Amino acid sequence: MYATQTRNEIWLDAITQWEKLLGKNAVLIKQDEIAPYTKNTIGVNRNIKGVLLPRSTEDVQCIVRIAKQCKTPLYPISGGKNWGYGSCSPVKNTSFIVDLSNMKKISDFDPELGVVTVEPGVTQQDLFEFFKNNGNLFMVPTTGAGPSASILGNALERGYGLTPHSDHFDAITSFHAVLPSGDLYIPALEELGGKKINQLFKWGLGPYLDGLFTQGNFGIVTEGTLLVAHRPESIATFFFSLKDDASLEGAIKAIRTIKKELGNNTGAINLMNARRVLSMMEPFPEENCSNNQVITDEVIAQLTKKHQLTEWTGFGAIYGKKEITKVARNIIKKTLKPYIKRINFFTENTIKTASLIRFVAPSFYKKILKPKLDILSSALQNVSGVPSQVALPLAYWRSGKTPDRNKVINPAQDNCGLIWHAPLVPLTPKDIRKHVEIVNKVCPQHNINPLITLTIFSEQCCDSTIPILFDKNDIKDQLNAKECHNSLIAQEAKEGYLPYRLGIDKMNELIDPEKPCWKFAKQLKLAVDPDQIIAPGRYIPNDTFHENKKIESIIENNVVHEIKSRERRSNLSQALNIMNRNNVSFKEKNYELTKEIKISIANNIEDRIQAYKLLYTVYVEKEFARVNKSKMWYSKFDADPDTVTLVAKKGDDILGAITIIKDTGKGLPADDIYKGDLDEKRRKGNTFSEIVSLGIDKNIRGAQNVLVSLFNQAYFIAKSIHLSSHFIITVNPKHTAFYKRKLLFETLGQRISYGKVGGADAELLSLEFQKAEQEVRKIEEGSNHQKTLYKIFKTADQANGQIKFLRSQIKPMDTVTYNYLFRKDLMDYDKEKVV
Ligand SMILES: Cc1cc2nc3c(=O)[nH]c(=O)nc-3n(C[C@H](O)[C@H](O)[C@H](O)COP(=O)(O)OP(=O)(O)OC[C@H]3O[C@@H](n4cnc5c(N)ncnc54)[C@H](O)[C@@H]3O)c2cc1C
Repeated sequence: MYATQTRNEIWLDAITQWEKLLGKNAVLIKQDEIAPYTKNTIGVNRNIKGVLLPRSTEDVQCIVRIAKQCKTPLYPISGGKNWGYGSCSPVKNTSFIVDLSNMKKISDFDPELGVVTVEPGVTQQDLFEFFKNNGNLFMVPTTGAGPSASILGNALERGYGLTPHSDHFDAITSFHAVLPSGDLYIPALEELGGKKINQLFKWGLGPYLDGLFTQGNFGIVTEGTLLVAHRPESIATFFFSLKDDASLEGAIKAIRTIKKELGNNTGAINLMNARRVLSMMEPFPEENCSNNQVITDEVIAQLTKKHQLTEWTGFGAIYGKKEITKVARNIIKKTLKPYIKRINFFTENTIKTASLIRFVAPSFYKKILKPKLDILSSALQNVSGVPSQVALPLAYWRSGKTPDRNKVINPAQDNCGLIWHAPLVPLTPKDIRKHVEIVNKVCPQHNINPLITLTIFSEQCCDSTIPILFDKNDIKDQLNAKECHNSLIAQEAKEGYLPYRLGIDKMNELIDPEKPCWKFAKQLKLAVDPDQIIAPGRYIPNDTFHENKKIESIIENNVVHEIKSRERRSNLSQALNIMNRNNVSFKEKNYELTKEIKISIANNIEDRIQAYKLLYTVYVEKEFARVNKSKMWYSKFDADPDTVTLVAKKGDDILGAITIIKDTGKGLPADDIYKGDLDEKRRKGNTFSEIVSLGIDKNIRGAQNVLVSLFNQAYFIAKSIHLSSHFIITVNPKHTAFYKRKLLFETLGQRISYGKVGGADAELLSLEFQKAEQEVRKIEEGSNHQKTLYKIFKTADQANGQIKFLRSQIKPMDTVTYNYLFRKDLMDYDKEKVV
């Protein structure tokens, strides 16, 4: 408490000083003013303390000095349009955002040598207007992020575009930056009096330091100089369709040859798979997806036919004098010929000529031709250095919304769900094929559509961009997206395909601070910014990361120790074994719960955490679960509003728990290994509720009673609330006999090793509710003498009151619980508050 108050007082001190310096309007601290800065497309939460709006380098220097004095972290942004990687959000919580978008000076423009200096707030559109008003001789280094993105912001993330200077940091010759001390860094040649020459020569003199400001946190860049490409006499775009998927390898070699022979006369060449191209041409076909939101191959085949696409579409641009572009066209055509079905070249003139059709066939023009010409025209604009919003609707595709192209589009503010996975892949046919196979396999496993763009910017290597699109309003979809991202990173890393850039939630996950390269970066950072004032955690690991790792290993060791010292057999196994003995008679009174034990639904954070911890203990004991830092056993299915965890409580203590998941069409945990068996039954009209995570506290007496009660109530949930026809459960084969004999389950899926429970064997069983009810009726009529547990069961008809009570208790997971369980990016102190 004391520490928090002190921190608040320090913040207040900093705010007061900043307000004095910048004016109250330039220091935003009200919730509604800072809220837009917290929105991002990747679904992470960041707690920011305020926003500072400097107008000059001197303002930035004062901001940094005050921050240093008050030990208050800052996070600089230029345009804040880092969509798919974090937008405006900082890596760490409790930072103040330094929004440099008001710093819009453009200076030192040299049209003779093609160089210009810009401040961070200069956007693609600003530079475009500037060039237009100054002879229109140069191309803006455009990207898909469009007119409102910052020129420097993109270069500082080492982004790529489609114009001849496709590597945007490569084109930077000089940075000025405010250092963590508040001093201004000016490169060596300029310090020696060579301002002009410094702007023309990237490497300067002595150690190359400008690069430290990209993908790092050594300063706040306040201006940058870049080389800009002359607008050539002729620009043409070309689109080509590969013959088929098998032509990919040949096409890769051909593109390598084109890049080698044409050099800067071509920009980057993009190859997109059919799904990616369709995402630009068709609304998301929600109704034509498999039940997990992945568009089926059949639908993709229909749509590619409709749009006359093939499995791969290529796109590039040629720049130069007319004679050169003519030769370049022929080289491109000839080189690609063996692998393509068709290739078309477009210039501004061909598009203008095609649009003349509107006078001859207005209806055909309006319905068919115009939409295609609009796309071509925007694509041509983009490669010609004219900023356009053409690429941005991609971020909205999965949500089904269409942004208004006449307004400024901002996917983060519009709640779009998009994470970029952007690995670098060697430009060999073998590697490209392997990468494509990984993406095509991993994405659907997580209910994500595999969309691929290979941006081939050199003869050696390409950057593949995979937009992981998800519905941000659907918690489960969001978790799928994150799992998909993790899985893609892990699978690709095995092959050496690593990302060229990271999202704010991945920086501290991928980077190992113990490796010499990161140790070195960390030492540098600590030397110049010991209080971690500038963008803590941005790419370079800081102490928190190190501490977290230490804590993780301590917890892991403790848990292992704890478990080793316990006996192996859990209370659940014992209960099942006792009940499975033939001579046990199920007399009702034996299985009644004592009055103090109540069954209820875990619908608040305390009950959920206790239940997940109990299940974790049981599962780790059985070696089904691996030890983890949270010491809880739960999954993304627990976030589903239909999932119910029933708990048996004595006072505040949870003695047993069982989780029941409804089959809502998005798949069940058992689908991981038994999808074929389940789908066959689904086609016959069966509907399922899956029992997962059943556990009883090992220290209680009368575990059987708890187990039977939990089972009976789970049955009420599944039958009368989920309205399912069957229970399914994946069990360890040593318990199969119990479920079959005492509860009349039947085998649905054969014995198999199940990764989710540490590779132990599992078997899928199912129980038809009708069969269970018949059994109860037979028992009541006295015509059945089997020793099943139904003797002590109530049917749903007999438990109307209890079912009503359970129904009234079911609540979707609240935001606090969700954030606690699924957003590990939240600050430590937020977690402490909750627990
Ligand atoms: C549909 C779509 C298409 C996209 N296409 C592309 C593409 O073709 N190429 C591409 O590269 N990206 C692309 N992006 C990703 C992203 O939107 C762009 O990279 C965008 O340019 C980044 O935002 P920004 O320029 O406003 O930079 P900012 O968000 O301002 O900056 C990015 C990061 O750099 C650091 N930074 C910024 N300014 C400073 C400073 N002055 N000093 C120190 N550090 C600073 C900060 O950590 C900041 O988070 C695309 C995104 C979408 C949604």
